Amino acid sequence: TYVVIDNCIACKYTDCVEVCPVDCFYEGENMLVIHPDECIDCGVCEPECPADAIRPDTEPDMDKWVEFNRKYSELW
Ligand code: SF4
Repeated sequence: TYVVIDNCIACKYTDCVEVCPVDCFYEGENMLVIHPDECIDCGVCEPECPADAIRPDTEPDMDKWVEFNRKYSELW
């Protein structure tokens, strides 16, 4: 899965939301999140983010961000 990290806070761009083929972006309190079970790992959103806030969960120390993304996407 891909996850949104804190670089997204207060970002005004939604380029990622527009390109996602499965609509798995959700709004958190002050940033977007990706539902980890809905993301199909296509990677299309990553280069679209001007804030470099979208990362694959294969990067180090991403577990807490996966849980954060899950928590906020399931509020909807
Ligand atoms: Fe959507 Fe693909 Fe990005 Fe996952 S990797 S959030 S499916 S655009």
